[in-house]
Amino acid sequence: MANPIKTIGVLTSGGDAPGMNAAIRAVVRSALAYGYRVVGIKRGYAGLLKEEIVEMKSTSVSDIIQRGGTILYTARSMEFMTEEGQQEGAGICKKHGIDAVVVIGGDGSFRGAMALAKHGINTVGIPGTIDLDITCTDYTIGFDTAINTAMEAIDKIRDTSSSHERCSIVEVMGRSAGYIAITCGIATGAENILLPEVYDGDEQALVNRVIASRKAGKAHHLVINAEGVGHSSSMAKRIEAATGVETRATILGYLQRGGSPTCRDRFMATLMGVKAVDVLKAGKENRVIASKHDEIVDFDMAEALAIQKSIPDEWQRTAELMTRH
Ligand code: ATP
Repeated sequence: MANPIKTIGVLTSGGDAPGMNAAIRAVVRSALAYGYRVVGIKRGYAGLLKEEIVEMKSTSVSDIIQRGGTILYTARSMEFMTEEGQQEGAGICKKHGIDAVVVIGGDGSFRGAMALAKHGINTVGIPGTIDLDITCTDYTIGFDTAINTAMEAIDKIRDTSSSHERCSIVEVMGRSAGYIAITCGIATGAENILLPEVYDGDEQALVNRVIASRKAGKAHHLVINAEGVGHSSSMAKRIEAATGVETRATILGYLQRGGSPTCRDRFMATLMGVKAVDVLKAGKENRVIASKHDEIVDFDMAEALAIQKSIPDEWQRTAELMTRH
C-alpha cells in the first residue's frame, strides 16, 4: 500500500466536455469530506508546468454543476510529452505536496497521467470526452450532452431540409470514432450514417441511395457524416451534381462541446468523481474509473489503455436495417 495521501490535485485535460465541472465538484467535495486537502491544477499539464495551482474549498466549486466547459480550463501540452517535461511536472507536484492527481480527460490525458505515475505521483483517470472513445468504459462524461445537442440541431436541419426537398449532410464530431454519428444517425432517422470505422468511400452507393429515396417519394435525405470521414462540403457538391437533388452540408463543430450538461452527464460525473477519491482512499494506485454494465468500477491504468473497443455490432446492425429503405 502506498503512503497515506494528504493532498489531492485535480485537473482537466484534452478536449473539454460538458460534465467536467460536475466531476471536479465531486472530487473536491468528497475529498474535503474525507479530510484531504485539495488543489486545482489549471490548464491541464500545461498549467502544471507553469505551477498554476490553486487551493480548492467547498465554495470553489459552488454553482458549477450545471455549467458546461471546465472552471479549471483545459489545454494540450507538447512540453509534457517529453521526458524532461514529465519529470518537471512530477517535481512540481512534490514541491506543492500533491500526493495524487485526478485527471479528467481522454486517452491522451491518461497517457500523461501514466507518465506522472512513472515519476512517483499517484494518478486516477476519470473519462471525460464527448467522443465516447475511451476503451475501458461504456460511458464517458460529455457524450450524453453532445448527442442531445447534435440531435436537436439535426432535427432542425431536417425540418428545413424537408421543406425545401433537399439532401442534407450533417457532420458531427468524432475524428476516429463514430459513436456520436451512429447514435445521432439512429436517433434522427438518417438515411445514411457514415462512420470512420466502416465507411469505404463508396460515394456511388450514396448517390444511388439519394436517387432511390427521391423515387420513393421522400422529401428529404439526411446523411450523418462523422468528422473522421469529413469532406462534407465537397461531398455535397458531388452528390448534387450526380443526383440533381439540391444538397447542403452543415458542420456542427464546436457547438457540440458546449452547453449545460444533461442529467445523465452530471449524475455520471458525480458518481465517477466520488469513485476516484474512494479509490485513492482505499490506497490504490494509478487507476482509471469506468462504467461497466451500469456499475462504476476501476481498472489499472496501463491495462485500461490496452483494452480494445469498437462500436457494438448491435448498434451497427440496427443502423444498417434502419437506413436500408
Ligand atoms: P480528447 O480525446 O478529448 O482530445 P485527450 O485527453 O485524448 O482528449 P490529448 O490531446 O490526446 O487529449 O491529450 C491531452 C494532453 O495529455 C496532451 O496535450 C499532453 O500534454 C498529454 N499527453 C497525451 N499523450 C501523452 C503521452 N503519451 N505522454 C505524456 N503526456 C501525454
